[in-house]
Amino acid sequence: MSNKKKFLFKMNKISLISQPRMILLGIIVFFISINGMQAQTPILSSREKETLTAEKVKTGLETAAVDSMMVQLESLEEEMYPADNLYDSWNTEYVKAYKDAAVPDSFQIDVSEFVMPVAGLQRVTSPFGPRRRRFHYGTDLKVQVGDTIYAAFDGKVRIKNYERRGYGYYVVLRHPNGLETVYGHLSKFLIEQDENVKAGQPIALGGNTGRSTGSHLHFEFRFLGNAINPADIIDFAEWAIKDDQYTFVKNKSGASSKYLAGGGDKIQYHRIRSGDTLSTIARRYGTTVNKLCRLNNMKVSSTLRVGRSIRVS
Ligand SMILES: [Zn+2]
Repeated sequence: MSNKKKFLFKMNKISLISQPRMILLGIIVFFISINGMQAQTPILSSREKETLTAEKVKTGLETAAVDSMMVQLESLEEEMYPADNLYDSWNTEYVKAYKDAAVPDSFQIDVSEFVMPVAGLQRVTSPFGPRRRRFHYGTDLKVQVGDTIYAAFDGKVRIKNYERRGYGYYVVLRHPNGLETVYGHLSKFLIEQDENVKAGQPIALGGNTGRSTGSHLHFEFRFLGNAINPADIIDFAEWAIKDDQYTFVKNKSGASSKYLAGGGDKIQYHRIRSGDTLSTIARRYGTTVNKLCRLNNMKVSSTLRVGRSIRVS
């Protein structure tokens, strides 16, 4: 191969990964240059002709190889990083790994393929929201140790890890729709790090590991690290998604600082502790007993059960 052709081929290979359009351009330029060369050399010896034909055959083969490689690379890239247009890293250690990520003002998320992470209609044992001194970034669903936990959407295993004081054994999946889902307090993994999973595929067994009292699944939705209230996407009473589409709105969806401060018109819950009465709770959240009764469809005389959560705003 001539130096010129070698150079062009090199160019093709350099641009292969980043710019598929460049490759096409390279190939076109390449063929133009071959034709140009033929035009400039009208008299060829039979040996030269043979060499040129052989090179053309070889070139054709290599071009086909480059094409198929390009297709393979594209599907490989797709496979490697779901929602790659949103996430610029693949961190296998931290749930919140996107400190510097540019969060779009608003982002439409297709949740139509959602599959409940646990089978059957399960009780919500603790909702998303402020809880004691820590913010609860997920929804707790009642499961028994050994119950199967399913992938919520197609995706890829970003984290398969253990956190003694937190999630226990937990899994984080990233999905092509831009969401990530977190599954905590597991007893057994059924997947491998970086494995591709299908919606509804068993990924783990439920448990009681980490900071957990009583077996349950701690389930989170996150978008670029921002926790979204699962109740905004799932109707837990109906055990189904509310809508096929969910719109993430920057500083409004999920646990933004505004939410943490209890501002705005966001829904807030209080977990009942022993000694709590409707009037102490009302005072604490700057509301009234009547409003609490209305929000929770209960009477002033209703018994407050320790450990249950009631809506306070
Ligand atoms: Zn939880």
